[in-house]
Amino acid sequence: LSGNYDDTNNLKNLDELPLKYISVNPLTAKGDEAACMICKGASTLLCTSCRTYYCTKEHLYQDDDSSHGAVCGLIEQSLLIEDMPLALKISPQIQAKLLNYYSQVAQQCTDRARIHLIDQNNKLAFPAAERALHYCKKLYLNKPELINNLILMIEISVLNDQMEPGYANLASAQLQLINLKKSITKQIQKGLEAKIRSGFILLSKINS
Ligand SMILES: [Zn+2]
Ligand SMILES: [Zn+2]
Repeated sequence: LSGNYDDTNNLKNLDELPLKYISVNPLTAKGDEAACMICKGASTLLCTSCRTYYCTKEHLYQDDDSSHGAVCGLIEQSLLIEDMPLALKISPQIQAKLLNYYSQVAQQCTDRARIHLIDQNNKLAFPAAERALHYCKKLYLNKPELINNLILMIEISVLNDQMEPGYANLASAQLQLINLKKSITKQIQKGLEAKIRSGFILLSKINS
């Protein structure tokens, strides 16, 4: 499975996919949750293990190469916990387990995004970074780690020539820093400010 997303992929039928994938009706698979992971369009396929939706096999394969293949099983484990009755899942051991799954997903997706970024493969870098950010928000809201992932998203947006998401993530990084200021040392603050500035410089390069 590497980078071959031509039309022949779309011609293969569902039973050539692993059993965890099922077809879904795009009319019922609506809303943000059921949007295609890659293009946010209407979905026809679902990974029942990690509940990620896809419009086509092309986008399913693209996500699989990007990061889905690496983290589907970990997300599945986290969903088993999320689905537990509240009385069970509030146990500190279960919560620690859940956070550990989130953290593994975030780390693996960040690593994958960085590898794809080095390869200058935007198609694979962006979805991996997006998934990493989703899990970082669960883990690191109002913690410095989140800013690093927002800057990674900016680097990928720049590579993609996507101004809007780039600036949205820059604004979100600045907001995070304002929220953090009270709880971090001056030195950490300076480091984060430098990172945000580097994101801004990257973005202003596409402007000119
Ligand atoms: Zn799609
Ligand atoms: Zn999956």
